[in-house]
Amino acid sequence: MSAQQDFYDVLGVARNASDDDIKKAFRNLARQHHPDVNPDDPAAAERFRGIAEAYEILANPDTRARYDRYGHAGVSGAATGNVDFGDLGDILGMFFGDGMFGGGRARGPRGGQDAAVGITLTLREAAVGVQRDLDVEIIGDCERCGGSGAEPPTRPVGCETCGGIGEVRQVSNTPLGQIMRQLPCPTCRGRGAIVETPCTACKGRGSQPERRTVSVGIPAGIDSGQQVRVTGQGHAGDPGAPPGDLYVQVQVEDDPALIRDGLDLHVRVDLTVTQALLGATVHVPTLEGTETLVLQTGTQPGERKTLRGKGMPMISNAKRRGDLHVIFAVHVPHTLDPQARRLAEELDKAIPAEAYTSEGGGLFDRLRGRTRG
Ligand SMILES: [Zn+2]
Ligand SMILES: [Zn+2]
Repeated sequence: MSAQQDFYDVLGVARNASDDDIKKAFRNLARQHHPDVNPDDPAAAERFRGIAEAYEILANPDTRARYDRYGHAGVSGAATGNVDFGDLGDILGMFFGDGMFGGGRARGPRGGQDAAVGITLTLREAAVGVQRDLDVEIIGDCERCGGSGAEPPTRPVGCETCGGIGEVRQVSNTPLGQIMRQLPCPTCRGRGAIVETPCTACKGRGSQPERRTVSVGIPAGIDSGQQVRVTGQGHAGDPGAPPGDLYVQVQVEDDPALIRDGLDLHVRVDLTVTQALLGATVHVPTLEGTETLVLQTGTQPGERKTLRGKGMPMISNAKRRGDLHVIFAVHVPHTLDPQARRLAEELDKAIPAEAYTSEGGGLFDRLRGRTRG
C-alpha cells in the first residue's frame, strides 16, 4: 500500500467520518487484512501496516487535524510503522488475544537506554582529534551477579515453559478460527532463563548505578553540536538484553586567535603603520603553531592572505583541510611627539601622490568600477 494513498481512502470512510466510524472501519479492515489471517499472502503485512498507519493518524484528533490541513506532509514521521501500538493492541486484542504488537504481558527483555555525556575541546584538539577517558554515571551490570540477576553462586536456570528458547506458540480462538503465532515466553519474559534466587544486591534486576571510565576517540575536524556514539556503553538493559549506546556530545571552545568558519579559519594580524609602510616579518598563529610571513612595503588595512590547507580537517577525510585566511589590521598612533611629527611631515613630502595608487585601484575605485560594471 502506497504511503501516499489518502488515509480516508485507505479506511474507506468519508472525510467527515466520526471517530466511531473510523474505529469501526478499522476493525473491519484489520480483521480482513491481518497477516495472521492471511498467512499465504506476503502482501498482507504491508496492507495491514498501511491500514494501521491510517488509523493511527485519523484516530488522534491532533494528527487528524494536521493531516486535514497539510496532508501527508503534516504528519510525516507521526506514524512510521515504528509506533507504540498500545491503543491498537487494545482493539485488536478483542479479536486476536493479548500480546499483539509486543504490548502487554508477554514483552521480551528490553534493551538498555542510551546515555549521554558532554565533552569540551579546544579548537586545536578538535583539529587533530583526541582520545579521552570520560567518567560516566550509568546503570551498569550488577557487580555481585554479573548482570544475571541470580544470587551467587546460583545461576539462572532454563525456563521450562519455553524450553529455554524464550518464545512460545500461542493458539487463539477467534471469530475467524484458530490463529497461531510466536510470542515472547510469558514465564521468562523472552529470556529463556529464570532466576530462582534473586541477587541480594540488585534484587534480581541485574543492574545497578555505577561510575565507569569510558575511553572515547574524538575524530579530527569535530565541531560543536556534533556527537560521537560509543556502541554498547549506555545503560544496561534487562538481563539477557543488550545495553544502550553512549553519546558523547562535543563542544569546541572558541580559540583566542583563530576564528572557525566551517572548514576555514580566520586570523587577524595587527600591524603598526610603520610595519605596514616599511614591510615586516610577522608570525601568524596557526593550528600547528606559527607561520612566518615576510611582508613587503605597503600592506593595506584589511588586506588578506590565504594560507591554503591550513584550516580545519574534514571530519570524514582528515587529509582534506580548509584554508587559513589572514586579515591585516593597520594601527595608526593616536599621538605623536614633536620629533615623530617632524619625521612624519618629512615623510609626507617625500612620498608622491602616485605612490598611493596601486594597479588594482583603491577600494573606492574598485567599488565604483563594480557599480558601473
Ligand atoms: Zn545482582
Ligand atoms: Zn520461557
